[in-house]
Amino acid sequence: MSQATLIDGKAIAAELRAGIASEVAAIKAARGLVPGLHVVLVGDDPASRVYVASKEKLAAETGMNSVAHRLPADTSQADLLAKLAELNADDAVDGILVQLPLPKHLDTDAIIDAIDPAKDVDGLHPINAGRLAGGKASGENLLVPCTPLGSMLLLKRVLPSLSGLEAVVIGRSELVGRPMAQLLLQADCTVTITHSRTRDLPAVVRRADIVVAAVGRPAFVKADWIKPGATVIDVGINRMPDGKLAGDVDFAEAVTVAGAITPVPGGVGPMTIACLLRNTLTAFKARRGS
Ligand code: NAP
Repeated sequence: MSQATLIDGKAIAAELRAGIASEVAAIKAARGLVPGLHVVLVGDDPASRVYVASKEKLAAETGMNSVAHRLPADTSQADLLAKLAELNADDAVDGILVQLPLPKHLDTDAIIDAIDPAKDVDGLHPINAGRLAGGKASGENLLVPCTPLGSMLLLKRVLPSLSGLEAVVIGRSELVGRPMAQLLLQADCTVTITHSRTRDLPAVVRRADIVVAAVGRPAFVKADWIKPGATVIDVGINRMPDGKLAGDVDFAEAVTVAGAITPVPGGVGPMTIACLLRNTLTAFKARRGS
């Protein structure tokens, strides 16, 4: 039985971060400036605390000025908006990320809307989402959500050209499925977005040269849904009862059918933070001139 090529997101993300670190060092040497990434965490959700700590650490490792603002769980909407206004106005701040999910008493949409779009390194502000939907942002020049951007970089590593390929995205979230579909469209794929109301999902997925699974259900995508030789990007991160992480694709079986596949962990996950750092550098260059 043939085995798919494993797409090593951990190694590719490390390479990406090393490239960012050399660019940061060159900018520092030439201009005496470093990009500044500011992450805002409200409350003490354990998973969010871990994510923020690792964003802070990896940003610092690339030589960026990395700052985490940890605010109490009962922070009011007005106080959080005031913090964002302060960061928007500070010229030393290039990237602002508000860690989601926010506590329930806060209005997430209003908070995201309050981030300066030029500093919105999560790519969620309606202006950035609109530019992406309008075909004007590719991640090369403008800010697009980090997980889809990282998934595209992985696809480009294994596929010489994406043009004309059939891509099926499973999931239509604002954070992953929708922006992923836009990026694939911009790369000239023929794109189908599927969701919980899609009829005969296995038949739709069987058409795909590229499958992107962003569902949030362990081993949801079965091997017999996958066209032999297809490239499979598994975005899912599901915590299993034994504490291990599992993707949305039945990896053990799919690896015998796919042409290339991302593992979980070690696939898309590490690319997400690397792309956050890349977005911070993109925002720095766009604001201050590269
Ligand atoms: P989400 O907002 O919950 O969206 C899940 C999507 O899956 C929805 O569009 C939903 O359809 C669809 N879906 C649910 N059940 C389905 C079914 N039976 N058939 C077809 N589609 C179905 O989740 P998300 O934020 O996009 O995240 C998805 C997964 O990616 C999660 O496991 C998350 O942890 C992971 N994730 C990983 C990273 C990373 O860095 N690797 C980053 C973000 C998220 P409806 O719209 O119809 O409800």
